[in-house]
Amino acid sequence: MMTVRFDAIIIGTGQAGPALAARLSETGMKVAVIERKYFGGTCVNTGCIPTKTLVASAYAAHLARRAAEYGVIAGPISVDMKRVKARKDEISGRSNKGVENWMRGLADATVYHGHARFESPRTVRVNGELLEADKIFINVGGRALVPPMPGLDQVPYLTNSSMMDVDFLPEHLIIVGGSYIGLEFGQMYRRFGSNVTIVEKGPRLIPREDEDISKAIHEILEKENIQIRVNAECITARKEGDRIIVGLDCADASREVAGSHVLLAVGRVPNTDDLGLGKAGVETDKSGYIKVDDQLRTNVPGIWALGDCNGKGAFTHTAYNDFEIVASNLLDNRPRSVRDRITAYALYTDPPLGRVGLTERDAQQRGRKILVGKRPMARVSRAIEKGETKGLMKIIVDAGSQEILGAAAKRASG
Ligand SMILES: Cc1cc2nc3c(=O)[nH]c(=O)nc-3n(C[C@H](O)[C@H](O)[C@H](O)COP(=O)(O)OP(=O)(O)OC[C@H]3O[C@@H](n4cnc5c(N)ncnc54)[C@H](O)[C@@H]3O)c2cc1C
Repeated sequence: MMTVRFDAIIIGTGQAGPALAARLSETGMKVAVIERKYFGGTCVNTGCIPTKTLVASAYAAHLARRAAEYGVIAGPISVDMKRVKARKDEISGRSNKGVENWMRGLADATVYHGHARFESPRTVRVNGELLEADKIFINVGGRALVPPMPGLDQVPYLTNSSMMDVDFLPEHLIIVGGSYIGLEFGQMYRRFGSNVTIVEKGPRLIPREDEDISKAIHEILEKENIQIRVNAECITARKEGDRIIVGLDCADASREVAGSHVLLAVGRVPNTDDLGLGKAGVETDKSGYIKVDDQLRTNVPGIWALGDCNGKGAFTHTAYNDFEIVASNLLDNRPRSVRDRITAYALYTDPPLGRVGLTERDAQQRGRKILVGKRPMARVSRAIEKGETKGLMKIIVDAGSQEILGAAAKRASG
């Protein structure tokens, strides 16, 4: 069979691949772009964009219920889940089409819709065709982790991907996992009208954050009547009639929750297990993340890994920043390193959490002498005026140099 020769092959059209394909194509390179499923990847189709449209619908429902507090008289509030989903599909679909059209419109680029697998360090097979290039960029992202929970194979469950097809209101949604994805879905479904229980293995929600931040989020969610069950060290599942029972403690059968639906939100796994990495000689760590250096080069010369699959970030902007780093080093002769990246992200509960730099705990672990400043939103005039006084702002400063090391704001938007 004939091998099709390119200057560069890009596997995956998440948040790094398309921008890189465009830059490479601008320089006159012949580029192959391979996508196995939805153009735009997780963020566009099953992550950021659809979830944030759902968060917006949930916020509208919540504010409508609170209308009287602002002197606005509204009628009874109900949520039409079919219309909520249709709005989400429309917005997310537009981005998905946009990425596909963008890729198909690039000069000298060929788009392949199929699953890519390495055959060697320089060749990739897709839809039976063999493609060859001296530069290969892996941007394959990740998917929801399905943990080896006893009984899980006996019950139906949802993930962030299958949640995208839900156009009805679950009577009682049990969410396994009390971190970023679980909390966003939890609050939004509670606001749509479901009963929601969040089951978390650890002693507190979003354990990566400082304790005061996790406590503030816990209180905010509990005030909205979301049930939170922490310390669920041994989580099991079984079916009883049309109910799904989630057990929280293998040694104590009385600790359990019964619901109508279960959503798994316990982490992500990289899509590297079915990529033929062994044939290319590309190394991964024990969790399957592709090992890269500070310029996102793998151990095989001519192969880079960008985005969630390299384990250096788990956000849209970190994946896009990976593109910027690779493009800068490769095309602009301006050295950039992933080590210079400052942590920054948001959790889109309401109020949202914005985080940048070090947490208080990070700074202490690094032995820094720090000053910590906090201000509850109940003492911020703008928040009082807006009627959104939940949460706090917090800043971590180096006690000697006064350098700002990190900040968190669990605060009203707008
Ligand atoms: C529910 C949820 C909400 C999120 N919300 C936010 C948010 O609000 N803000 C934020 O910054 N981040 C958010 N994220 C994270 C964000 O979506 C990811 O960090 C981002 O999409 C990672 O982009 P990526 O380029 O690494 O890969 P992805 O976007 O995952 O894209 C990888 C692409 O590669 C394709 N692919 C995989 N294997 C192959 C193969 N063998 N051959 C061909 N194609 C292949 C996949 O089909 C996919 O299209 C969220 C994630 C989830 C799950």
